[in-house]
Amino acid sequence: MCGSDQAIVTKDSKLSSGVVPEATDANLRPNLPVDAIINLDHGDPTMYESYWRTLGNACTVMFTGYQSLSYFANPKNLCWFLEPKLEEEIKKLHDVVGNATVEDYHIVVGTGSSQLIQAALYALSDALNEPKPVNVVSATPYYSSYSEVTDFVRSGLYKWAGDAHNFDKDGPYIEMVTSPNNPDGVIREPVVNRAQGMLVHDLAYYWPQYTPITGPADHDIMLFTVSKCTGHAGSRIGWALVKDINVARKMVKFIEINTIGVSKEAQQRAAKILEVISDSCSQTVRPPELDNFFYYSQHLLTGRWKKLREIVKCNGLFTLPKFPLQYCNFTGDFTKAHPAFAWMKCKEGVDCEKLFRGHKILTRSGKRFGSDPKYVRISMVSRDEEFDLFVRRLSTIHEIANGN
Ligand code: PMP
Repeated sequence: MCGSDQAIVTKDSKLSSGVVPEATDANLRPNLPVDAIINLDHGDPTMYESYWRTLGNACTVMFTGYQSLSYFANPKNLCWFLEPKLEEEIKKLHDVVGNATVEDYHIVVGTGSSQLIQAALYALSDALNEPKPVNVVSATPYYSSYSEVTDFVRSGLYKWAGDAHNFDKDGPYIEMVTSPNNPDGVIREPVVNRAQGMLVHDLAYYWPQYTPITGPADHDIMLFTVSKCTGHAGSRIGWALVKDINVARKMVKFIEINTIGVSKEAQQRAAKILEVISDSCSQTVRPPELDNFFYYSQHLLTGRWKKLREIVKCNGLFTLPKFPLQYCNFTGDFTKAHPAFAWMKCKEGVDCEKLFRGHKILTRSGKRFGSDPKYVRISMVSRDEEFDLFVRRLSTIHEIANGN
């Protein structure tokens, strides 16, 4: 029904509680004023807060003053600053979800996968000893940080070379392959495909709430992050699964020089969170009141996408990507992707970011992703009340003025 602003509360037989919480939770946060600025520029995953609140103290991790003083977590490990408990929980979760092969891989922990992107660029380019910086590419629309991170310190080892589709230079190169892709949620493969290519697979969103899990990924370098998996972006924990021991060694060296390891407190918290998620997926271990984390968050995102698509269809001013129905090995169902971002297109010639800004909705312009200003990226993982206000406001946009 066009113009409807009912909250999305639906039953799902796979969830223990059977419902996704009401869109506004006045007990926890004051309601946003109707004319509030809605910031959907960042992919800040506060959507997951509602799940973690239901767990109360079950994930609380405590530290005494005498714990975790040493720089070292496991001196015998190649990644000497990786907490053994985190390593164990990362492996367990990949096994439970079936989204990546861990056997015969080296795990490197990083301060977010942002640090691991830099570590991977260093490791791959340093090993080559090239006289000129190695080109780094990614297909448009690409995650906006890649260009920023690559050129930020003007490294002599690598440099940003833009859209992988237009890459025509000789010599070695590094291609960042993001799958599902940020910003548009598309499942991706490398596009350059030359013998001298090195690949970094950024699989931050290859989790069941965002996309069907079609099989365990087994690429040379795979990056994951708790930020997008569990929503704990503030803990700043990411991990890389690396096939080649020499590449893994160099990534560890980068992190050693950069930050002398990764916070132990953050790693232990992340380990606990991953453990709880794995338990929530297990028929035998899961307490009855605990929802399977991935079913819960998939259900929430499905509801949000449904609502957004209804409004977009009603006002006829924007378009959204469509996703194929695929079998998900994890859920055992045919599902479509429900990405963390909506890659929204306005009509030709419209600066979509400016248009939304005029309605006090902050988004990220297509330009930042090497694409056109008629596109914007909108976060789908904000808090319920922000998302709800966003769709209500979107439903009030009925026309796009010329020159917007
Ligand atoms: N890769 C992709 C594709 C992302 O979207 C993000 C976060 N926006 C990151 C890496 C970095 O994540 P973090 O540093 O929080 O682990």
